[in-house]
Amino acid sequence: MDQGLTLPGAVAVIGGGWAGIACAVELANAGHPVTLFEAAKQLGGRARGVDWNGIRIDNGQHLMLGAYGATLALLRRLGTAHRLERRRLDFRLPGFRLALPYLPAPLHLASGLLLAQGLTLVEKWAAARFMQTLKTWRFRLPEDLPAAALLRQQRQPATLISRLWAPICIAALNTPLETASAQVFCNVLRDSLAGRRADSDLLLNRCDLSTLVAEAAIKRLGIDFRLGEKIGGIEPGQNGFRLAGPQVEAEQVVLAVHPARLPALLAELPEMAAIADAVAAFTWQPILTLWLHFATPVDFPFPMLGLDEGLAPWAFERNDLAPGLVAIVMSAEGPHLRLPATQWRDATLSLLARSLGPLPALLDWKTITEKRATWACTPKLLRPGNATPMPGLYLAGDYTVDCDITNGYPATLEAAVRSGVKCANLILSSKG
Ligand SMILES: Cc1cc2nc3c(=O)[nH]c(=O)nc-3n(C[C@H](O)[C@H](O)[C@H](O)COP(=O)(O)OP(=O)(O)OC[C@H]3O[C@@H](n4cnc5c(N)ncnc54)[C@H](O)[C@@H]3O)c2cc1C
Repeated sequence: MDQGLTLPGAVAVIGGGWAGIACAVELANAGHPVTLFEAAKQLGGRARGVDWNGIRIDNGQHLMLGAYGATLALLRRLGTAHRLERRRLDFRLPGFRLALPYLPAPLHLASGLLLAQGLTLVEKWAAARFMQTLKTWRFRLPEDLPAAALLRQQRQPATLISRLWAPICIAALNTPLETASAQVFCNVLRDSLAGRRADSDLLLNRCDLSTLVAEAAIKRLGIDFRLGEKIGGIEPGQNGFRLAGPQVEAEQVVLAVHPARLPALLAELPEMAAIADAVAAFTWQPILTLWLHFATPVDFPFPMLGLDEGLAPWAFERNDLAPGLVAIVMSAEGPHLRLPATQWRDATLSLLARSLGPLPALLDWKTITEKRATWACTPKLLRPGNATPMPGLYLAGDYTVDCDITNGYPATLEAAVRSGVKCANLILSSKG
């Protein structure tokens, strides 16, 4: 029988999304040997570059925030942090604008709200009162509930919800307000609007996502990247774990796969049944990105524009990828997914023209639908931590959370990177 490969002392990371990459980079940085197995031919997972007629676009437009401390640290380590454009928060929808000025917190939020366009004084006061109430509660709810229920409980006016709270919730949690976790929504508000001024800044990648992370990571020494190597399952081995597929034995394993793939990988490990069952109960939310290639650059007053209120698309100027490129993002489930792509494209072009005026000629377009873009961030979701009941086996990914849900982020790049780094630190501290 083929004995396969043994990785004495090395950590096997399974999955090369941003969580797996962050874990591997952190381990390699501490001089720890690490082998990363990625099923696809490229790294990046749900945040990667995609070739389209000779242009490298992103599989989906991503937005980062100044509060993404772990992501910024990773990019600094990879030497690509300068590829992010930092803009102070400027939330623009038709008939509404919230721009946060360069003032220290909390003055930036107070004056931003006071000067916001498209809200009455009563609505501005309601927004300030809501943030103050959350602050008094230290952003910890007595019990998790749907975000819409919390906003009703806090008597937030309908216009304020559809212009401010719903767009933030859908953009951050990728889950409609009616089913989104109010506690995780509060966590996001705490770390962005109620954080330091710079935490609310918008960070826009000005190169494709593969250039930003995957390709920079692959150039790093000390990580053995195995692309196109899918792990079929995990069993206990003589000195740790045996991985099916490439037939590898490793003492320590970090599972950094999409949570939808986790239960199947854990099927042979009865100790992991409770975690596998919890993750098998997750449900998923899609994200649709429409890429538009115009003959000439489109004149955006700000690189990111909301095209309407509530559950509406956001447009991003992406001239960095090719002159005239625009990405339109539609988060979460909704009736748009049932429309023929051409009909949705035309409806979106009308919204874009309403905001920006006549558009240049459209040369080409493409939609990318990620059906399982994120796990649905619903109230009281049972999410596992990084450590597991099996010593030497760890979980990394945007879905993990430590025991306190007030630290829990929604499915985001920051959640993935934090989780990967935390796994690496657990492994390093276990080695003493
Ligand atoms: C369209 C879209 C838009 C988004 N927008 C934003 C945004 O604006 N801001 C934000 O912060 N976040 C956004 N996100 C979420 C963000 O991309 C994810 O939270 C993050 O990329 C998850 O990273 P991960 O490493 O946890 O998982 P993944 O990226 O899913 O990585 C898992 C990896 O494991 C590999 N794998 C799976 N099974 C195996 C196996 N058996 N063997 C080996 N490898 C395996 C997969 O191929 C994959 O590469 C968006 C996501 C999508 C899809």
